[in-house]
Amino acid sequence: MESTVDSKKFKVMLTFDLDAESAFLAMDPDNAHRVGVLSQGQYGPKVGVHRLIELLQRKGLPATLFVPGWVAEKYPDAVQASAAAGWEVAHHGYHHIPPATQTREEEAESIVKGIDAIQKVTGRIPVGYRSPSWDFSANTLELLSQNGFLYSSNMMDNDAPYLHPVESSAGPIVELPIQWILDDAPFFMFSRPAVRPISALSNAYEHWSEEFEGLYAERDRNKIYVLTMHPFISGRPSRVRLLEKLIDLIQQHPDVAFYTCEDVARHYQASLSK
Ligand SMILES: [Zn+2]
Repeated sequence: MESTVDSKKFKVMLTFDLDAESAFLAMDPDNAHRVGVLSQGQYGPKVGVHRLIELLQRKGLPATLFVPGWVAEKYPDAVQASAAAGWEVAHHGYHHIPPATQTREEEAESIVKGIDAIQKVTGRIPVGYRSPSWDFSANTLELLSQNGFLYSSNMMDNDAPYLHPVESSAGPIVELPIQWILDDAPFFMFSRPAVRPISALSNAYEHWSEEFEGLYAERDRNKIYVLTMHPFISGRPSRVRLLEKLIDLIQQHPDVAFYTCEDVARHYQASLSK
């Protein structure tokens, strides 16, 4: 699964958060009775992720899947299909409950249960962690350290990887920063009662391509490009076409390579620790 990361290349990571219906349930437990609301999220593991796997297989590109443990247990086929396509499978909580709303004990339990679920489904212990809703708590980093994580992909305070001031059994924990501007949800997430227009595909493309051009221009300063998508949102045919158009643009640039988050984290852990 690991590939050699070329230090001279600009590093692009395509990441998919397979929330399925877990985010809708975490948002409002009453949604458990709303079969129609839950079906929006269920599109991810049932249909969306498979269309995205097809696209990336056709392009010969890797990706990283962040999955809540509960979703991995409910949809093992979707997670195994991702792993079989060469995608890294990483941790995204257990019930998709934002850690900042949990007690330390609840958060610790979510992390352990999430690791167990992913190991059961893929046969591999996850090394990366993205918190549900990017809502890190004051305890998260210490819990990641106790549970041997290699990297976190949660922070918006930089656009180059950096080392957190804590170590785990995997060494210093690497941060692979993210941002809402490189996420599909702010553009396309639509759910009642908070009705708002669905953004034009061209709107997302303009943000994502301009961010790419800007970060690529600073590639000698370790900048990276981490795009976050959700299979229930970006697995729709129109948005898969949008992603393909973006990939085509990225691939027109010299000295660019696509990697899993794990590969990039290992690379930077070694180079930043020197
Ligand atoms: Zn999520």
